[in-house]
Amino acid sequence: MVKNEVKTTCSYCGVGCGIIVKKDNNNKVIVEGDKYHPVNKGMLCSKGRNLHYVVNDTSDRILYPEMRWSRSHPRERVSWDDGLDRAASVFKSIIKKHGPDSVGFYVSGQSLTEEYYIANKLTKGFLGTNNIDTNSRLCMSSAVVGYKKAFGEDSVPISYADIELADTFLITGANPAWCHPILFRRLEKHKEENPDVQIIVVDPRKTDTASFADLHLQILPGTDVILYNAIGRRLYERGLIDEDFINNYTEGFAAYKEQVFATKISKAAKLCGIDEKDIKKAADIIGLSKGFISMWAMGLNQSVVGVNKNVALLNLSLITGQVGKPGSGPFSLTGQPNAMGGREVGGMANLLAVHKDLMNEEHRREVAQFWGVDEINPKPGLTATEMFDALESGKMKAVWIACTNPLVSLPNTHRIEKAMKNAKFVVVQDISYKSDTVEYADLVLPAAGWLEKEGTMTNSERRISYLPKEIDAPGEARPDAEIFCDFAQRMGFRGFNYSSSEEIYDEYCAMTKGTNIDVSYLNYDRLKNEGTFQWPVNEYRHEGTPRLFQDKVFYTPSKKAIFNIATTTENTSIQPTPDYPLILTTGRVRDQWHTMTKTGKVSRLKTHYPKPVLEINPVDAYLNKIKDGDITEIHSENGSVRVRAKVTETIKKGVVFLPMHWGKQLQNDLNRANNLTNTHVDPISKEPDFKFTTVSVSKYTKP
Ligand code: SF4
Repeated sequence: MVKNEVKTTCSYCGVGCGIIVKKDNNNKVIVEGDKYHPVNKGMLCSKGRNLHYVVNDTSDRILYPEMRWSRSHPRERVSWDDGLDRAASVFKSIIKKHGPDSVGFYVSGQSLTEEYYIANKLTKGFLGTNNIDTNSRLCMSSAVVGYKKAFGEDSVPISYADIELADTFLITGANPAWCHPILFRRLEKHKEENPDVQIIVVDPRKTDTASFADLHLQILPGTDVILYNAIGRRLYERGLIDEDFINNYTEGFAAYKEQVFATKISKAAKLCGIDEKDIKKAADIIGLSKGFISMWAMGLNQSVVGVNKNVALLNLSLITGQVGKPGSGPFSLTGQPNAMGGREVGGMANLLAVHKDLMNEEHRREVAQFWGVDEINPKPGLTATEMFDALESGKMKAVWIACTNPLVSLPNTHRIEKAMKNAKFVVVQDISYKSDTVEYADLVLPAAGWLEKEGTMTNSERRISYLPKEIDAPGEARPDAEIFCDFAQRMGFRGFNYSSSEEIYDEYCAMTKGTNIDVSYLNYDRLKNEGTFQWPVNEYRHEGTPRLFQDKVFYTPSKKAIFNIATTTENTSIQPTPDYPLILTTGRVRDQWHTMTKTGKVSRLKTHYPKPVLEINPVDAYLNKIKDGDITEIHSENGSVRVRAKVTETIKKGVVFLPMHWGKQLQNDLNRANNLTNTHVDPISKEPDFKFTTVSVSKYTKP
């Protein structure tokens, strides 16, 4: 590495690619893939390759704190002292009058682990409420529950290196060709070199990932549990199960067997809208494989039955004994760069740091003792959507939103707008004015971005990396952890006078000691000098742990993995009606990231999918008198969207698709997919039902 180079990690998706950052003669940042990084081996996708544009263009950046003294006045520039003093004074007064549960923090899977840790310590340890949730609630919370139910803890068992060791992949509810491109490139290369590798894709859309598959099961949205149970039944009937593993290392098989035998495969095929022979074929491929990996993302998780889908899928790894072996295991694909790190520090309303359980009195006592506080409130906090419901109803009075844009990303946007207007005090801490959420802030705090602060992140395979500060933040922007600590001290809390991010990280590492995510043998020096590590990194595993459960000892009380049966095999989403006959599913496009506050600045990233379009099957287009390129109006019970139609065979009849990235700042609010989406959530994970909203579609005619 030459003198002016630094190594860091991409700030976009959970793949966590290694990046080399340099500066050109004009002191502008240049990026390239790190060819020695174990994740990407030099490769970068379109988003990662263009990160330097985002860093070098500061025209959209929030440079100074801004505040308004009342809603009838515009915001004006204020000093950090004035802004944070006012925030502390408002929070104190609201808590005094309405109790600690009247305030909350809504944070992000893009925050660094240190920032996440401090925000949680502040809220759960010192403010006395568990009202801190994260936008990771929108993508991974169903998977978290699934892992906890099956393995006893939220633990992704495998590594990317297992991809090259597997021969069968079931990719379901995910389009890694677009959303996890470097991971997908590794899979493509593996198949190119090993033509016997089999790829099965489950998706109502024929995505680029599905086009690459050996078998595409184009199911109807919401029928996943029925499909996985039918596969489980076929595996059993053909004797393609691992009896030794089931008998010695699992619990709950009898009940599972009863559930999978409750539905005939022929009936399951009908319910899923696919051929019976394809279900059997998928089961036979999985059952005969030597190394079976399932990969999934939001297509599974974002559902009212997201947990059921997860447990039904995890059962396929258990019935075949494909866990804890090289080239096998379930593998949730994390969307955000540090969603995993957030889960480690307890970054959700129902979690505590270091995978401790909020509902466990002993765990609460341990965490309280570590932070030097009397107690942790036993009441679970409000989750993402619940928090905005509480703002709308007036139960919650103040919210602090950091590094996320709920005005575009949360379901039923009009309700979020109402909630923000109804809140007594809104703090938005972010980097860019391109966030629609800034408009509703009483106090805007400028945050430092990627390369402007140091800290750590954990990618989808439990790999922790260090991200250095390489450039100064523009204006008066400050690192998020520093802002939270400053606020905490103004609230009068002790334990927040850290001198560096490293000190925060060391505190977190000390807290992990003796837990299943123990990283007590890791510190900034090792991360800077030796590279990345997969947790746990403890006294027995100095070099980290690429694969969990190799000893077949799980984190459940019995040490066995658990077959969980779905509480219902059917989808409980609101079903189509004559008024709203089509099912809307939302998702991502290849070159955009979340609400486009960063990728939306890069012209070359706009060419692939320049504007949001409605993907509609030719039969549905014909029935609704829509031609390719027509402007359509899409209506649901929650609102409407107006975009052009793309008539395409790639989407299943009865289903339409909209990308979720576009918001008001970037186009207009008629492009915002979440105008339409419903507010239903999975009853356990509280993850929203983004993949199933009933809508009507018609050609738009000017009034
Ligand atoms: Fe960044 Fe993800 Fe692309 Fe890698 S695959 S470069 S982490 S966006």
